[in-house]
Amino acid sequence: MPKALFSKRTKDQIRGTYQNHCGICLKKVPRGHCAHLLDASEAGAKQLSFGVYMGLIQDGYKRSSAENGIFQCPDCHTEYFTPGLVALSPPPQILKHIWKYLAQTETQKLQPLHQVIRSIEARKTLLPYVGLCTLVSLLPEDLDGHNIKCIKAGHQPDLSVVSGRNFISAPQSTMPGAKDTARIFDVLQVPDDPPETSYAIPLSPRHTEYLHHRYWRLPTGVEPGVLLVSLIKWIPLLTHSTSKEIEYAHRIYIELRNIKAGISLIGGRIDRKRTAEDRHDDRPRKKLSSDKTRKKSVLEKGNSGGKGKARLKI
Ligand SMILES: [Zn+2]
Repeated sequence: MPKALFSKRTKDQIRGTYQNHCGICLKKVPRGHCAHLLDASEAGAKQLSFGVYMGLIQDGYKRSSAENGIFQCPDCHTEYFTPGLVALSPPPQILKHIWKYLAQTETQKLQPLHQVIRSIEARKTLLPYVGLCTLVSLLPEDLDGHNIKCIKAGHQPDLSVVSGRNFISAPQSTMPGAKDTARIFDVLQVPDDPPETSYAIPLSPRHTEYLHHRYWRLPTGVEPGVLLVSLIKWIPLLTHSTSKEIEYAHRIYIELRNIKAGISLIGGRIDRKRTAEDRHDDRPRKKLSSDKTRKKSVLEKGNSGGKGKARLKI
């Protein structure tokens, strides 16, 4: 299967939308990378099939479209994202909503999740988080002491606080760890000629600011279902929950597997028999034993078999 590469025109579109700033650390990098959210390789095709099959992604999503792209500096891309040390995720508030919907809705009444995600915009308490994503440290132990350096990226985003349906500027006296308070990283808010200041995004608990809330607003407006699929692919490789995002993504994954297998935790058991298609697409995947050597996620491994199941214990 050919790779779903970006055309030159699409790369220019992504670069232009990000105004040549890395979507994560915000620094200006004219020679940055146009990275894929769902991989360009055959593994990405499996991720997409999984997402569509599970109802997380609408059929017709194109991995070669600008929608599937994020502009990143070489440091963020090759040091942290490519080896699977970090990943983007929908905010935990939205993941919790999806999980509760799956857990509390009778199987016969379940809507495709991409529709459920769209309906989030009607929920006032979740509105501040629509259009945002978080950065998840998948292996904080391996990232001990690491941080993403934001050099000449403007000042660190000021604190924002939830007010009704939006985030607004927080009062001067607000503490960074206060409830409903966060810094929102947005390439479109970086000044044209930023000062020579620098700051860091902590990736491990060794940093005292690690637990402060940070959100990213990507100018291409990423679908939460796409981020969720690209996060789920790492879950079976993790030995324990490292964040709320991982915890909820894992719960969603288990609910979806049960629903596809015909096991409803609410409506009793078995809404329909498990089909050959289910078994083909939803078979427990092979464990990978070493974080150091892991190059391929469970979805990249695809249907290579194996009796293992997710190692994550919640
Ligand atoms: Zn960067």
